[in-house]
Amino acid sequence: MDVTTARERLEEMLAELDRSIGVLQGDPVAVREHSAADAGSDLTDADRAQAMLTVATTQRQAIMEALKRIDEGVYGRCVDCGSPVPEGRLEARPEAARCVQCQGKRERRR
Ligand SMILES: [Zn+2]
Repeated sequence: MDVTTARERLEEMLAELDRSIGVLQGDPVAVREHSAADAGSDLTDADRAQAMLTVATTQRQAIMEALKRIDEGVYGRCVDCGSPVPEGRLEARPEAARCVQCQGKRERRR
């Protein structure tokens, strides 16, 4: 995947995420009002929104970093070992920062 395509896809993903984050952050009243009619589920709804917001924010950060790597001319290289990240992996996850091995090591450490 060339960097122009990667950038376009990342920017699309970013726009999409910003919309989701805006909805999640801008809609707490709707969430509360909805749950008020259904006492007890209040926390659950707020927790769900918060969890989605955390995921969206983390992914947004990964996309911002990928865009920065494009600017720096290092996009498509693993940030840990410097090997090329496989094409198929970038197709599936354009924001991927690591090759499969390094990502695996990182996830095992957690
Ligand atoms: Zn690596």
